[in-house]
Amino acid sequence: MIQNELPSIANSVWAATSATPPDCPPLAGDQEVDVVVIGGGFTGLTAALHLAEAGISTMLLEAETPGWGASGRNGGQINPGLKEDPDAVEEHFGPVFGPRAVGLSGNAADFVASLIARHDIDCGFSQRGWVQPVHDKTAMTTITRRVEQWQRRGAPLRLLSRQEASGLLGTEAYLGGMIDERGGQLHPLNYAIGLARAALKAGAMIHGHSRVLSIERQGAGHLLKCRNGSVKAGRVLICTNGYTDEIAPRVKRSVVPIRSIQIATDPLSDNMRRSILPYGHSASDSRRLLLYFRFDADGRFLMGGRGAYTETGLERQFASLKAVTENLYPQLEGAPWAYRWGGFVAMTADHYPHLSSPEEGVMAAVGYNGRGVAMATALGKVLADWASGMAEKDLDFPVTRLRPIPFHFLRKPAVAATIAWSRLKDKWG
Ligand SMILES: Cc1cc2nc3c(=O)[nH]c(=O)nc-3n(C[C@H](O)[C@H](O)[C@H](O)COP(=O)(O)OP(=O)(O)OC[C@H]3O[C@@H](n4cnc5c(N)ncnc54)[C@H](O)[C@@H]3O)c2cc1C
Repeated sequence: MIQNELPSIANSVWAATSATPPDCPPLAGDQEVDVVVIGGGFTGLTAALHLAEAGISTMLLEAETPGWGASGRNGGQINPGLKEDPDAVEEHFGPVFGPRAVGLSGNAADFVASLIARHDIDCGFSQRGWVQPVHDKTAMTTITRRVEQWQRRGAPLRLLSRQEASGLLGTEAYLGGMIDERGGQLHPLNYAIGLARAALKAGAMIHGHSRVLSIERQGAGHLLKCRNGSVKAGRVLICTNGYTDEIAPRVKRSVVPIRSIQIATDPLSDNMRRSILPYGHSASDSRRLLLYFRFDADGRFLMGGRGAYTETGLERQFASLKAVTENLYPQLEGAPWAYRWGGFVAMTADHYPHLSSPEEGVMAAVGYNGRGVAMATALGKVLADWASGMAEKDLDFPVTRLRPIPFHFLRKPAVAATIAWSRLKDKWG
């Protein structure tokens, strides 16, 4: 179970099957380091790891335990690229940072693979490719463009005919799709735990149950206070994404946390496994309210989709996710659905992640729009480069102005309305 979480979304398959987490005692007393990292998900852990490896004294403060947020709860799909396609990314970020952002995001899955290999992280990792099945003709046009743009840049993507897609997916529900051979999958909580162990080994300090309550400017640096201790640091990295609280109000208002939920079975029989995603791919489809699904390394089937903010809404969404799954794979009717859980994905108004500096000496990386397994890892390293002294102009991702979303306080009704609208568009095209 995920500790300190709503019971209705706490029964996570990852929490139930995780490795032993490292000992990360709460911060006590007054300390001083070069860099403080706030938040122990993929972004913060990767940043802390690279900083410690560079010999910089680094402390990571996590409100709960490493991997407690989205990083320990997600679908574990390592999907390269950003939400937007490479031509749009280059146009958006311009001639210098555009190609760098495309390169960083396109190589992000390989970067995850290299970290796992280098630090010998046991997290059920495989890299058999990500399939994006297509649900309607408009999406087929979008995906055809996507494949063409990445192929032009030498990336291993290709279109799938209806027959090929149904062969890889084990369902005839889709019109076709694409496969991106760079994609992979992992046990997300074990990946987070592995990153935490690697960061500790490299010399970083990690304190769990250490919510940062305030950040104050003090001379050339910052003073951060937790309940039982404080730390002074020259630079501060904000890696709190969809869980950002009032310590960074402008960062908080730059993202909209949207709940995503998942259900998972107990391990299924070999026969059943051969009939669904028989070649071990992961899939996330082309719907606006996308469905994402795969098997874990032990043969549990996982399905994810859009959640809700309220308890009754969640009950409805879990029931509907199960019904959609059984519609896609009728052989799963009556399957042992043993787990159901959820967490917050951080969306941004322009669909891009943002690296931004709310004040001098502080840098935040947030807003992966559901693509954080690869991208949060990649931007964690960029944050470490910045905190080690690299000039902004030399980073692999642009630092952009923080843009708090207007009327952020209205986000829940706005999200509910957008979801209802997206559901209609998914249904009627
Ligand atoms: C259900 C679900 C499924 C998803 N599936 C996928 C997928 O298959 N593929 C994919 O690429 N992405 C997926 N995502 C998105 C992905 O998980 C995230 O983008 C990524 O994990 C973000 O990592 P992070 O380190 O930035 O943030 P998080 O992992 O959310 O970590 C933020 C941390 O900050 C801590 N924190 C907050 N405030 C404070 C404070 N004041 N002091 C100290 N600590 C604080 C929180 O406790 C939390 O642990 C999914 C997300 C969810 C929720």
